[in-house]
Amino acid sequence: MKNNITINDLLEIVKSYNPEEVEKVKKAYDYANYLHRGQMRQSGEPYITHPLAVAYTVAEMHADGDTVCAALLHDTLEDTNTTKEGIADQFNKDVANLVDGVTKISKMNFSSKQSQNMANTRKIITSLTNDVRIIIIKLADRLHNMNTLEFKSEFKQKENSMETMDIFVPLAYYIGAYRIKSELEDLSLRYLYPDKYKSIEEIKLKIEEDSKHCLQEMLQTIQGILNDKNIPNEIKVRTKNIYGIYKKLQEGNKISDIHDLLSLKIMVDDIANCYQTLGIIHSKYNPINEKFKDYICNPKTNMYRSLHTTVFGEDERLVQTQIRTFDMDKVASFGLTAYWDIEKGNARDVMQRDLKNKYQFFKSLVEINRMFVDNQEFVSQVKQELFSDKIYVYTTTGKIIELPKDSTIIDFAYRISSELGNTMVSATVNDKVVEPDYILHNKDRVRVITDIMSYGPREDWIDKVQTTKAKRKIKEFNDK
Ligand code: MN
Repeated sequence: MKNNITINDLLEIVKSYNPEEVEKVKKAYDYANYLHRGQMRQSGEPYITHPLAVAYTVAEMHADGDTVCAALLHDTLEDTNTTKEGIADQFNKDVANLVDGVTKISKMNFSSKQSQNMANTRKIITSLTNDVRIIIIKLADRLHNMNTLEFKSEFKQKENSMETMDIFVPLAYYIGAYRIKSELEDLSLRYLYPDKYKSIEEIKLKIEEDSKHCLQEMLQTIQGILNDKNIPNEIKVRTKNIYGIYKKLQEGNKISDIHDLLSLKIMVDDIANCYQTLGIIHSKYNPINEKFKDYICNPKTNMYRSLHTTVFGEDERLVQTQIRTFDMDKVASFGLTAYWDIEKGNARDVMQRDLKNKYQFFKSLVEINRMFVDNQEFVSQVKQELFSDKIYVYTTTGKIIELPKDSTIIDFAYRISSELGNTMVSATVNDKVVEPDYILHNKDRVRVITDIMSYGPREDWIDKVQTTKAKRKIKEFNDK
């Protein structure tokens, strides 16, 4: 994250992708600066530095003008005497609604009442269903707060870090905002386990130093061939984030076993050239067969697309290459918000529509929200069903389905459709016949066998499912 953002930095970046909104953004800055006058952050800096940083982060994602304005004004309802109507008058209803949305989910800390926190956590999570831009401003807000956490007490640092890992990191993952996600993870780890963070940071720096030559050799070789073939390209070097390494070590891996510790991100102009690039890489460097993944054909459930192949570089070093188009790279960094760039004018509507239709977690979230009236129960179900470990299995046509860990065939069938769940009699997993309560594992290939004469779901299946939808459907069927 860039430090000490000035209004000129912000206007500059807005001008680069959305020149017609520069005036409005300037006006929002002046207004926010006036409203926050005299207020200071705990760091001793003028308060306006915070909304400026938040606005800059969303502008880096090429947010629309309203969102940038709302980011500048996001703390004014809470900390100054302006009102929602005041903002609507000065700007428009959209900006006012966004600021109001962010404000409604901002008062939260572990010291206030448990029940209040639960209500608030619910609001944060469900604000996605109204306008995903609220969550994006909130993620940018959290990112800056985590970046300036050094001025808070140790208790506050740990409290904020836990909450970030618990709620904001999973949300960033689901909308595909990887760049924010990995920054939030590293910042949290730094405050939660400072010693581990430091030692991994040192290891990482050493590896980056040692592998410089290997990565440069590979980058130049691949770039040289692509240039010769007149394929427009850009190649970047990336090392896994500190939290990512930490997690691998926690799972019992050794540093040398982490196959994606070092990566080259290779961007080209179109899909055909992605596959051609793959061919070029495999003809130059030996791949590890089982580490090849085609997420272009088969996107991840958060719409991430790329070809992954891990190859042997110089000195037996493993290097993962990620090959994608320039547009796919925007989605890889910013997720759903890449539409700001791709769709321009009606990005907001496209984002909300895609969230509903393409992002699998969204339906589950709506279902949980509908079924759990109690806030505490809602939050614990979301954590268990969506924010914990997940598995990814295949349908018979190769579509990837995301389910909570320990899900069974019954969960899978209801995820596909209620009809499939209600008429299921058995299933095959990787071509072997299994019972409906079979617990699924990553990469299982699942075929559900139905019979219209089936008795329907048995009542005791309720104890054999993880997902809220499956539970509801089994109950509804048996209550009839
Ligand atoms: Mn804030």
